[in-house]
Amino acid sequence: MTTHHTSSAETAQAAVNSSLGGRIGSFVDGAIVTGSGATVDLVVAATGERFASYGDAGADGADAVLESARRGAATWGALDAFERAAILRRVSAAVESHIEELAFLESATTGKTLRDARAEATKVVEMFGYYAGWADKLMGETIPVPGNWHTYTERVPYGVVVAVTPWNAPLFTAGWNSAAPLAAGNAIVLKPSEFTPLSTVRLAQIAHEAGLPDGVFNVAVGLGATVGSAVTTDERVGKVSFIGSVPTGRRVGVATAQVGIPTVLELGGKSANIVFADANLERAADGAISAVFSGAGQSCVAGSRLLVQRDVHEEFIALVSEKAAKLRIGDPLDPTTEIGPIITRPQYDTVRSLIERGIGDGARRVTSDTLPAAVTGAALAGGNWVLPTLLDGVTPSNTLETTEVFGPVVGADVFDTEEEAIARANATRFGLAGAVWTENVSRAHYVARAVRAGTFWVNSYKTIHVAVPFGGFGDSGQGRSSGPGFVDEYTQPKAVWVPTQATGAPFPSLSY
Ligand code: NAD
Repeated sequence: MTTHHTSSAETAQAAVNSSLGGRIGSFVDGAIVTGSGATVDLVVAATGERFASYGDAGADGADAVLESARRGAATWGALDAFERAAILRRVSAAVESHIEELAFLESATTGKTLRDARAEATKVVEMFGYYAGWADKLMGETIPVPGNWHTYTERVPYGVVVAVTPWNAPLFTAGWNSAAPLAAGNAIVLKPSEFTPLSTVRLAQIAHEAGLPDGVFNVAVGLGATVGSAVTTDERVGKVSFIGSVPTGRRVGVATAQVGIPTVLELGGKSANIVFADANLERAADGAISAVFSGAGQSCVAGSRLLVQRDVHEEFIALVSEKAAKLRIGDPLDPTTEIGPIITRPQYDTVRSLIERGIGDGARRVTSDTLPAAVTGAALAGGNWVLPTLLDGVTPSNTLETTEVFGPVVGADVFDTEEEAIARANATRFGLAGAVWTENVSRAHYVARAVRAGTFWVNSYKTIHVAVPFGGFGDSGQGRSSGPGFVDEYTQPKAVWVPTQATGAPFPSLSY
């Protein structure tokens, strides 16, 4: 893209007008329906300007979304699997032809950099393509049992799956949490973050235009306490998947358990990035930068704890700090920008205060804290800017050792031995991700096995793919939302027993 747009309320409004016809609301039965609940303001993260408002869907809106989804699940479930696969392939192609539009809408309205938004939109194409391939290949089993029986299983969808998503990667998480349930034959209800609902609504619209029947992909917009709570605890819902913070995830998990709805939780992280003295330091430094500063650190898998072996500690910290200083922070719509603003104002305040806490707990700030002219000029001065921040001396007692920042902040410390690095990496209730940098192949595998995390990289960071299981241990969540395991997450086995011989044998008396 050669055009250079500047983030502003007008640009965001123009994106809403051209993508959504200026209407912001829930997506129900193929149409955008405005909500009549409390007014929610949308703000340009790079400038602080309000660019639009919309009405929370409220209890009535949530009810309409679920009623439509219930009908949609019946339609979708009754289609044969080959038709579902064909439609999902068309959804993938339709998203592909809208990548630029979706990326622009996402970037202009959330503050995510255009380059990240484009990469994430591209991933959504991949998600629908991958799961379209699975949709007509879900098989049961024929199981040998004693006696004369033909006993087999079928995979049965849950019906309506509700997915609640966070603000850091709205389009990405919408695709991630809808393609698999849809492929398994469920209807999906997305509840995007109240801060960032627009790309999710547009995705649902594109999917509908590509051939998903009415009610199969609905979106409920509004606050967590109203709409989120209503759609996750309704008896029409078969399963909930939640992506977000630990406290909210816990609350949702308790609420769904009380009404008996099984739930997948993808929560936060405090992932360790371990650098040994024998690593390729140049590459490890680039990896460490990308691990925690890409997306301005608003990433669940962020490598936010940098553990460096003593012999190279000083050299490595200097290298990372030098590279961090070169990152281009600024207007998210400038295609060369690498670091955008923090997406929400409350999160900006949290990040700023956690940096101060970390320093108060004894860490030393290595990187500059003077914002560059690119973001202090009149146009962007009101934005949520936080410079890439490297704090060294983040010892185990520091708040930053265990608290997820969810911003461009990395806490570094030194270690001596492999065992010490592993123990340190595991000294957290989280277990989402981690990485090791070393040229020693045995050490790489040893550390990879020892660190407790759902995803672990050797000499790399942040690579993910829809074909590979993703999820967390411990506080980072339960269940997996990608890879072939989705068959178990989004369908249930049904066992069918058929006698193959009329034996007249007595029926068993068992008390289970
Ligand atoms: P959040 O927990 O504040 O909100 C997440 C979603 O839950 C939002 O849509 C919100 O409206 C909704 N919600 C709030 N209260 C609810 C309720 N009572 N019932 C139902 N829904 C409710 O999270 P956030 O601040 O939007 O996102 C940041 C967090 O998400 C971070 O902790 C990050 O690590 C995590 N995250 C995890 C992953 C992962 O895959 N593990 C991916 C991205 C983000």
